[in-house]
Amino acid sequence: MAETAPVKAMLSVEEARERVLARFQPLAAEEVPLTEALGRVLAIDAVAREASPPFANSAMDGYALRSLDTRAATPDTPVSLRLAGEVPAGNVYAGEVGPGEAVRILTGAPVPAGADAVIQQELVSVAGDAVTLEAPVAVGNNIREAGEDARPGTLLARAGTELGPAEIALLASLGVSPARVTRRPRVAILATGNELERLGEPLRPGQIYDSNTPYLIAAVTRAGATPVSLGVARDLEDDLRAKLGAARGFDLLLTSGGVSVGDYDLVKRVLSERGSMTFWRVRLKPGKPLAFGALDGTPLLGLPGNPVSAAVTFELFGRPAIRRMLGAAQVERPEVEVVYEGRDLRRGDRRQYVRVRLASRGGRLVARDTGEQESHLISSLQGATALLIAPEGEGVIRAGELARALLLNDALPWEA
Ligand code: AMP
Ligand code: MG
Repeated sequence: MAETAPVKAMLSVEEARERVLARFQPLAAEEVPLTEALGRVLAIDAVAREASPPFANSAMDGYALRSLDTRAATPDTPVSLRLAGEVPAGNVYAGEVGPGEAVRILTGAPVPAGADAVIQQELVSVAGDAVTLEAPVAVGNNIREAGEDARPGTLLARAGTELGPAEIALLASLGVSPARVTRRPRVAILATGNELERLGEPLRPGQIYDSNTPYLIAAVTRAGATPVSLGVARDLEDDLRAKLGAARGFDLLLTSGGVSVGDYDLVKRVLSERGSMTFWRVRLKPGKPLAFGALDGTPLLGLPGNPVSAAVTFELFGRPAIRRMLGAAQVERPEVEVVYEGRDLRRGDRRQYVRVRLASRGGRLVARDTGEQESHLISSLQGATALLIAPEGEGVIRAGELARALLLNDALPWEA
């Protein structure tokens, strides 16, 4: 990785994100069985090699026949066809449907040679081997033609598509398995702070639980990567150095904490020894200085310690980096226009990301804040389905005004 010249000026969120994303590329491809491919990103276009359906088949339980034979059928002059056989799904009718003949056919069974239409069973009367109908049957009636869903050469899904249940079903119907997907990024997570205790241990006076590691394990997993916790480093050079040593070979290292004034020099010193490190001040709130660079060749994103700041900066910088490594067509979350519905929001020099819950009312998306927005209040993250953006500038955003919001899900999350 190239050295990054330290940036003294405050960066906008876009400038910082551009610099982060410039360091990441799609990872190598691998093959996985389709049934294990949920959430994986296609590394190459998926193209149909066969047709689907592979053969013309019946859409109904009924009778396969020749349309021409039924031309004269009316209630007064019904037409009777001779029942010549049967073809259930999974079988192929051995013969041909001759003039004046009908073959019993079940849904999904191949249309027998000679037949060009299927009449559903409710519309005929059957007595012995006579099938009687009272109206003509059009050519192609109740027949699903071969290749209606996909023809050989049809593009099923582009490289960069995240595979969901629908894509998996489509690829399966064309026999595309294994799927060629990008490798999952391996992301190392290191928390820093003397005050942090692991889950399962009792808290001693002055301690708090490390919640950033569990948060990041969950958020990294949801972003499509494989998280590995490196534990908690104490605010001591040696411990930090030792723990950081374990990050070698990962695709990304996420640290949290150690960027406020007290710890700053320690973390900066240790990181700078072994790599190139830049501390940026990004014009955003929540989110303190953000560290970015490389350590022994591993890209490192140093998130702030406050849980809400860590979550928001992961969302704005960490997740897009992971999506870029996955080769995802959509690296960033969608933004939508919303009507704000909360307390007055005073704008400032830093862009604010306010946790909100979206609801649809009267055909509009309404965004209500999740309560107090201070960066230590993890409860403000809970239930948030979007981050409302209060742009840099002056004035106040009041309830009823339009604003942009970044979805925290790719699909619109509706409130019940
Ligand atoms: P720092 O940036 O290390 O000064 O941390 C800022 C604030 O975030 C302090 O109140 C820390 O106790 C808190 N903090 C740092 N890391 C974590 C963590 N892993 N889990 C929960 N809180 C944290
Ligand atoms: Mg700390």
